[in-house]
Parts: sequence; C-alpha cells; structure tokens
Amino acid sequence: MQTAPLPPRDVPPMPIPHLENVMPIAVRPEVVMARGAGSYLWDTEGRRYLDLIQGWAVNCLGHAPPRVVTALAEQARTLLNPSPSFHNPRHLELAAAVARHTGLDHVFFTSTGAEANEGAIKLARKWGSVARKGAHQIVTLANAFHGRTLATMSASGKPGWDRLFEPKVPGFRKVPADDLRALRGAIDDETVAVMLEPIQGEAGVVPISLENLRAIRALTEERGVLFIADEVQTGVGRTGKFLCVEHAGVRPDIVTLAKGLGGGVPIGALVARREVSCFAPGDQGGTYNGNPLVCAAALAVLEEVTAPGFLERVRESGAYLADGLAALSRRLGLGEVRGAGLLLALDLEAPRADKVVALSRQRGLLVNAARPRTLRFMPALNVARAELDEALAILAAVLDDPASR
Ligand SMILES: *Cc1c(COP(=O)(O)O)cnc(C)c1O
Repeated sequence: MQTAPLPPRDVPPMPIPHLENVMPIAVRPEVVMARGAGSYLWDTEGRRYLDLIQGWAVNCLGHAPPRVVTALAEQARTLLNPSPSFHNPRHLELAAAVARHTGLDHVFFTSTGAEANEGAIKLARKWGSVARKGAHQIVTLANAFHGRTLATMSASGKPGWDRLFEPKVPGFRKVPADDLRALRGAIDDETVAVMLEPIQGEAGVVPISLENLRAIRALTEERGVLFIADEVQTGVGRTGKFLCVEHAGVRPDIVTLAKGLGGGVPIGALVARREVSCFAPGDQGGTYNGNPLVCAAALAVLEEVTAPGFLERVRESGAYLADGLAALSRRLGLGEVRGAGLLLALDLEAPRADKVVALSRQRGLLVNAARPRTLRFMPALNVARAELDEALAILAAVLDDPASR
C-alpha cells in the first residue's frame, strides 16, 4: 500500500483497455480507479489519491466503510431480492428510519436521485388531480439540477439543457433563485408545487438563504401548493443536519434523497407527508424498489450518520475546511467560500477550475470543478483533520503553481 504523496506522473499513461466499447458520455481523465479505503482511492497503477469528491457526495462514510461492507455481505448471503411484491425486513426497517429522521411519514425507495425526483413530480401531479382541481404546474428554479430523466431534465434549469432532447416534458415554470417576487408571481391556480434544492449543488454550491427557505415554506402554505425539497445532494448529513432544510427550521411536504443514503450503493428515496401521499396501488413502482441488499447498506449508513455526535463532527469538519479555504482565498486573492457542512465551494479569480482539478489529481488530490471558476468539495463526512490538512496543502501548492493559471 502506497502511503506517500504521489510524485507527478513521468511516464505516459497505459492505454485504457476496452475503451472502444464504452459509450462516450463523459470526458474522463486517463486513470482507472481500482480500490478505495476511507478518504483514499488507488488507481490500477497503484497511485494514491486523497478523494474530496467521494463519488459525487455519495460515499458519505468514505470508500468501503466497514459497517456498510459487513451489512452488504451479510444481506447478500441471506436474501438479495424476494421481488418488490413481497415485504422484506430491511425495507420495513429502513422506511421507519427514513420517516423518523426526516420527520415525514411515507417512503418509497428508488435506485437513483433522478428517479426519486421523477416520483416526486408524479406524486405532486397526482395530488393536483385529486386535491387541486387538476393543477399540474411545478415551479422550479433557474440553474436547478434535478436529474437526467426527461421529466427531471425538464424540471432542471441547467444552461443548455433547454434545447436538448426536445420536446421536453411540459409543466415546469422556471424562476430565478432567491427571487421571491418572481416565485410569488409564478404560482397560480395551475400550480401544484414549488420544487427546489436548498443548496444548488451542480450550479456551484449556491445556497437559498434560510430566510427565503422560510418565506417559500410560508408562501406555499398560504397558496395551498406543495413544497418539494430535492435533498439528493444535501441530505443525509451532508450539510451537518440530517436534512439541509433543518437549518431553516422548515418541514417540506415532499423530500427526495439519494447520493449519501446508500453510502456508495444506488438507493434513493421519495418521502412525503401522510396528507399528500396519495399514490394508489399501481401508480408507482420499480423492480428494484426497496430491495433488501441496498436497504441493508442504507440502514448501516443511517446508524452511523445519526449516531450521537456524528453530525456535530460534520459541522466542525466543515467549519475547519471552510476556514482553511478562506485563508487560502485571502492569501492568494481568490473568491468566495460557500456552502454548509461538508458541501463547500471555493470561487477562483479566473476560469481555471479545470486546470486546478487536473494538476491536483497529478499531485494526488481529487476535487471537482463545479463551474469554470468554482471548485467543489464533498469529502467523506467522517474525513479526518489530517486529511483536510493534506488536501489544503496540496491545493495551496497547485493554486500557487503558475501552470494552474
Ligand atoms: C445528483 C443529483 C440528482 C440526480 O441523482 P442521480 O442519482 O444522479 O439520478 C438530483 N438532484 C440533485 C440535487 C442532485 O445533486
């Protein structure tokens, strides 16, 4: 096991086998990741990386967390999938745990975040048909990211997506984020819900202010429409509370979760208040929903994330990393540090995030370029101080390196 920081690569990378058979949906660096443990990843050449991306905020307990690995192995030996038409113990236990920790009532498990949001859109439309005279419009925010199915792409406000895969699913009205007047004006008799991310992750970690979250909750109540919080990225402790909306003291009607929920295995959740949970049998489903394998992993994640003191440590680690980034920014004349808990962004003074990401990787640090001039940090929630120090030191060296400009 290599433990020293990486030397810069001095030999050309090996050609990547079988690449000709991979659908080219992304531009990926020339490394193949082979193994992970905690905050570290190793590639097939044995090079070690300190990982502050963690599968896009998915591995909330780091790579191969022992409790999740054990739960998966035990469940795999016991029962993989009895079919979604039967109850299974892990599904029942996990539904109870998710209901308890979100303060909501009914839970439907999906395999991805997009599928959870797709379910939220369907549930809101069903509710509109039974409780609001067929209203079906959903108000969403500019720059929102809700997933890559057709309906969730239509709900999203990602620049450029408005012309992709036309025609889109109708029924979404977009307003600028943090513009309460525009939001108020967009809600009419046709409206059934307001759907938003409390912190817009893909947009570059852009928080909706806590006052506005409270105002939006009040507005949706006053106008009799649903408040849907997409907490796919912010949920399950990422921001130092179980749900990000807890920072504002707000309880939505519908919450969606995914990413951190499975600690690396694919599971999402559509969670709703009893009063709006109006699917009839047959309205919603999915072959893999609530299968015991992924539910066992999520139960293990929740046990750890909701253990006494865990979320407090996330807030402390988040403050520590934010302070370190702010110090870097002051010293080097960079921009704002934003976010909450361990979902943080650092704005650069120029559009050089891609270069910084590539040079960081060469020095053994994985960070994400959320925007051309914004770096995003999503370490494991149990990341160690020493690992954050190591990350800040590598990042400082890269940002100082003229090659990163
Ligand atoms: C990642 C993400 C999604 C989509 O989740 P997938 O599991 O990739 O389908 C939806 N909403 C938000 C806020 C996300 O960050």
